[in-house]
Amino acid sequence: MKSSTATATTDTARAAAGYRGRFAPSPTGALHLGSLVAALGSYLDARRSQGLWLIRIEDLDTPRVVPDAAGQMRATLARLGLCSDEPLLYQSSRLPAYEAALGVLAATGRLYPCSCSRRETATGPYPGTCREGPRGPGPYALRLRIPEGAVACFQDRIQGPQQQTQQQLGDPIVRRRDGQFAYQLAVVVDDDFQRITDIVRGADLLSSTAWQLWIGEALGLRAARYAHLPLVIEPDGRKLAKSQRSVAIGGWEPQVALFEALRLMRQAPPSGLAGRPVADILDWAVRNWRPEVLVGLPETRAPQPQHLEL
Ligand code: GLU
Repeated sequence: MKSSTATATTDTARAAAGYRGRFAPSPTGALHLGSLVAALGSYLDARRSQGLWLIRIEDLDTPRVVPDAAGQMRATLARLGLCSDEPLLYQSSRLPAYEAALGVLAATGRLYPCSCSRRETATGPYPGTCREGPRGPGPYALRLRIPEGAVACFQDRIQGPQQQTQQQLGDPIVRRRDGQFAYQLAVVVDDDFQRITDIVRGADLLSSTAWQLWIGEALGLRAARYAHLPLVIEPDGRKLAKSQRSVAIGGWEPQVALFEALRLMRQAPPSGLAGRPVADILDWAVRNWRPEVLVGLPETRAPQPQHLEL
């Protein structure tokens, strides 16, 4: 099959177009169907806009990082034809940048130490127990004070207009009690560092987007555009990650995995495409990428296992 304009676009043309997207997996296990949808959706959106697509490894949560999961993810993605346009960025190499960002936040006078354990704050949003000073002994987490009554409004390209309030979310943790920089801080710092213009990811992260917008605002950073893809759930409606169906896709035929991810994203790939080489599938998918068919769809159900040729 001859290569399309999409795949033939040079790196220079892509970079000139300005769009910079990313896939930012946490290496806490193998790539599964849910993460594949995030990877492929962000890739297609970037390529459709003649943009660059980057892979960032979010390996900050060291207790949960699985040795070599990042390497395996990268290999699986490469088999699927999804390769980063720039060298992979590992968050574990970015600690000084997060420390500097904490310094900027501290200078705003809005950081405060919090002694509450995760258990104490598990039910509902953090009620602000330590806003006037920590209530118990350390070690302390650090939270960013979000003004009471703050409302974050943003337009999600897939999930539509969003409105999230401080009252619903509470104040975000930016450094954890165990001393680790929080995901909410690192993701904002790195999206800015990598000049990401478009964040396309799973809808499980929609609810923490306001935190990221507020942290970015406090750091004086520009917000990216957001598109939250429907969350992949079990055929029976349960959460994917908790069950057998979250099995690694690393062992699947790449064509089957791509085809399945396209179907989950309602891209209606023609059946004749299923047996074609990976490059042809991606080529078709870029040319026919229509995220608008997902508008307002919060979830998408995985197929029954017997429908997959594993
Ligand atoms: N590392 C996060 C995860 O794997 C995703 C971060 C993001 O896309 O913003 O859930």
